[in-house]
Amino acid sequence: MSVKLVIVGAAGRMGQRLITLASEIEGLQLIGAVDRADHPQMGQDAGAVARIDPQGVNLTSDFPQDADVLIDFSLPEGASRTIDYCKSNKVALVMGTTGLNEAQKAEVTAASQTIPVIYGTNMGVGMNVLFAVVGKVAAMLGEDYDIEIIEQHHRFKKDAPSGSALSLAESICEEIGRSLDESLVHGREGKDALRQPGTIGMHAVRAGDIVGKHQVIYSTLGETVTISHTAHSRDVFVRGALRGAQWLAGKPAGMYSMRQVLGL
Ligand code: NAD
Repeated sequence: MSVKLVIVGAAGRMGQRLITLASEIEGLQLIGAVDRADHPQMGQDAGAVARIDPQGVNLTSDFPQDADVLIDFSLPEGASRTIDYCKSNKVALVMGTTGLNEAQKAEVTAASQTIPVIYGTNMGVGMNVLFAVVGKVAAMLGEDYDIEIIEQHHRFKKDAPSGSALSLAESICEEIGRSLDESLVHGREGKDALRQPGTIGMHAVRAGDIVGKHQVIYSTLGETVTISHTAHSRDVFVRGALRGAQWLAGKPAGMYSMRQVLGL
């Protein structure tokens, strides 16, 4: 039996690829393509929105009945509505939207008491491998290695730093027992900007159509170790999200991670 899927942010860059790649997966049935009510393509077939064959589902601002799983790649503004819908209708939630505020993150966590949830700032295999190793590398290198994170994205990205860059910093802090909030230094500017020991520098580049590049730099006197990830296409995140959706549908309530989905 097919897993019934709803996509939120369906007309966006990620949403269009979700519609396209979901249509190629036999076990998934698109039953809802949701976007904001004033989107110019409201009412069009989801296939036309994604520039593929008709899918028999129109772009709408309403959520459909009887869904099994929902993937949200939209903007934080709509997050609460998505979460409420999933909770009320017992729909599994894959939340890929980044830039959620603390209250919204708390809503996602609370929802996991009644429905299965994956909240992932990056759904790709490669970056999830990085999440698994960057803290271990920091611990092995030791305290004398300065850690800086540089992320690069396209000029249209709203939030900064990227959710993935924050997750990299979070993984490092968890492993070496530092506080994320106290460690992060965003950018560096001014006459008194000397690097302080124990900090993690965070730098966001926004330019052109860069899909996503992350570098974690560990440097001490005499050597530098760099771990780097480059996404060539959004499809790497889309495939991960679809794999997550299939894995999550029918699971008991709880908070699950992409690392669990990918067996990392
Ligand atoms: P985009 O701007 O191209 O698309 C966003 C879509 O959401 C648009 O169609 C917009 O109309 C729609 N939208 C806005 N407000 C809405 C609302 N209240 N309700 C429903 N729809 C609404 O952006 P994008 O590049 O597709 O990225 C979308 C999100 O996915 C961003 O938060 C981005 O950071 C995130 N992202 C996550 C991953 C991951 O792996 N987790 C990877 C890439 C992008």
